[in-house]
Amino acid sequence: MQVSTRRISVCGLMLTAAAGLMGCDMPTKAEKATAAATAAYATSSPFAQISSLPYNLPPFGKIKDSDYKPSFEAGMAQQRQEVNAIAANPAAPTFDNTIVALERSGQMLTRVRDVFFNLISSNTSPVMDQTQQDMAPKLAEHEDAIFLDPILFARIETLYQQRASLGLDPESLRLLERYRTDFVRAGARLSPADKDQLRKMNQQISLLTTQFQQNLLKASNDGAIVVDNVADLDGLSKEEIAAAAQAAETRKLDGKWLIPLQNTTDQPVLAQLKNRALRERIYKASISRGDGGAGDNVGNVAQIVKLRAQRAALLGYPNHAAYVLEEETAGTPAAVNKMLAQLAPPAAANARKEAAAMQQLIDRQAKAKHGKPFKLQPWDWGFYSEQVRKARYNFDESQIKPYFELNNVLQDGVFYAAHELYGLTFKERTDLPVYQQDVRVFEVFNADGSALGLFLFDPFARDNKQGGAWMNSYVAQSRLFGTKPVVSNNINIAKPPAGKPVLLSFDEVNTMFHEFGHGLHGLFSNVEYPMFSGASVPPDFVEYPSQFNEMWSHNPKVLAHYAKHYETGKPMPQALVNKVLAARKFNAGYDTSEYLSAAMLDQSWHQLSVNQTPDVTDVMAFEAKALGTANAKGYVVPPRYHTTYFSHVFANGYSAGYYAYIWSDVLAKDTEYWMNTHGGLKRANGDLLRAKVLSRGFSEDPSALFKDFYGRGPDVGPLLDARGLTGAAK
Ligand SMILES: [Zn+2]
Repeated sequence: MQVSTRRISVCGLMLTAAAGLMGCDMPTKAEKATAAATAAYATSSPFAQISSLPYNLPPFGKIKDSDYKPSFEAGMAQQRQEVNAIAANPAAPTFDNTIVALERSGQMLTRVRDVFFNLISSNTSPVMDQTQQDMAPKLAEHEDAIFLDPILFARIETLYQQRASLGLDPESLRLLERYRTDFVRAGARLSPADKDQLRKMNQQISLLTTQFQQNLLKASNDGAIVVDNVADLDGLSKEEIAAAAQAAETRKLDGKWLIPLQNTTDQPVLAQLKNRALRERIYKASISRGDGGAGDNVGNVAQIVKLRAQRAALLGYPNHAAYVLEEETAGTPAAVNKMLAQLAPPAAANARKEAAAMQQLIDRQAKAKHGKPFKLQPWDWGFYSEQVRKARYNFDESQIKPYFELNNVLQDGVFYAAHELYGLTFKERTDLPVYQQDVRVFEVFNADGSALGLFLFDPFARDNKQGGAWMNSYVAQSRLFGTKPVVSNNINIAKPPAGKPVLLSFDEVNTMFHEFGHGLHGLFSNVEYPMFSGASVPPDFVEYPSQFNEMWSHNPKVLAHYAKHYETGKPMPQALVNKVLAARKFNAGYDTSEYLSAAMLDQSWHQLSVNQTPDVTDVMAFEAKALGTANAKGYVVPPRYHTTYFSHVFANGYSAGYYAYIWSDVLAKDTEYWMNTHGGLKRANGDLLRAKVLSRGFSEDPSALFKDFYGRGPDVGPLLDARGLTGAAK
């Protein structure tokens, strides 16, 4: 799950900014030729102009893989010129000629970057992978050239010192403050020698994190499990077996079956497969991703961790986590450690109870068959917890899946909730270009009929798509540019053979509501400056709108509206609905514990000082040690991600920030409680949340936004209650 998991393209300039290449050497002949080619591309590239399609939707039909590299070059050159002009302006600095001018700079680069980084996740190719490798260090260099330009920083600092007397409105004042903070945090106050060192580190880090991501895609594809005998798939539905056959066929493995790996340690298919040896094979393939083999990430991790610690030290912080968390609502590593330590014991106690119930079941079954009982292992968890669930609540996934057909869930569930709560309506647009044939585009309208933005929906797993689920933005809303938002949701549902329905698990249903919550954060954005648009908030706040939106997946009125049998159209019987709802807290001990171990693992890696970072040979030993103290001892709950495939923190902008999900969930569950005590699904509630939080982006301090909505700070009670953690500590 994840914004998506990544915070790309958060702001217009994100200071992918540019340049200060003042007083550079005279260009050589070759450089002149390249410069001419780059200049030509600045007009001929599909990114050269604002797209003339509705909502400035990128012209997907006109973009070739070979366009990205020269467009990046041309976009960077353009922004360098623009920023040089700002720095060299003989006029005294003003808010407009410096801050707004920076915000306006780099628009071509933003266009190419937003499309490229969206598609590198959703629909990559060897050419794009190579482009990313080539461009990552150049983009890092480009940003540093701007952030480390002393003349430019001097203008910002002058304005910052005068800020009280500039007569700025609150959003503009915040923009000035944010620019100054971003420059300082990026090293603007370092000595020239330290700046040089910082530049090198940033380029290395960007190259290594790119490699991490690309290795992971390779390792995940290589790790897919080939099954020779269909009997081994006992437990899967007919449709799932057909999908596995089709997946094998796509890889020219005719007559075999292929089980692709999902992002997380736990593989959903483990809940169904009866063959214990196959379960073990799948589990081991999952946890060994990136640890050796073609997509080996061990060396990348060692270097990334060390470089991040070195960079933090250079910037005056004890470790990378301290540097990152200063910008989050949490504030400090101590605050994060404290919260994780509070939640881990009750979650582990719950997981122990869950494991004990499964072990009893294993022992009972062994006795009945006069067989030898075995000790519950991680690859057994899903399978036996599903059986305990069946026994306790008397239903299984295969009974509910026919009621969760993809299109019903999308239109009659996700969109319906947004209609009831915010008055939104949706119209599918099949006339607009997409980057892949399965992608769907919807135009979104406000209650008064006015246009709000575009929503792209990319549902299916592909070999050239990252695992997991996330939201991205293609066009950020801003009044400065007069742009309306274009956002996308990506999920990874196995595509069934043609003509077969797409049936979801309840987890997948939740994921759709989750990602659409991020989508609404982007769509509702109503800010002046691109820097503050939509989901450009810190990770520990960005998961708030998404986790809050999950509440509608199980709201009785919404559920009744979308949970209809795909063949008969009949609603899910009330008795089954009741069971599904009653089972929601089931396995909460496992779910919370696997998440908390991953969050602690992230903190363990990023709270290291330079001297404490392990060598490449000690990476896996360090992980084991970190998990030994973080994990419930002796229980089979692995972390949601092991180090070598933990892309949130080693590739996607959540380093030292994976705790963000539970931090945000406090706000989400508190808001759910508020909704339930204020009449639930109705316009007045949605409109208030939209006005106070969802439309505000990062234009104000996020904690203040929550307080303004709620009238008080967050209360952790509803979260503990929702996860069954109240009074569970023993
Ligand atoms: Zn999310």
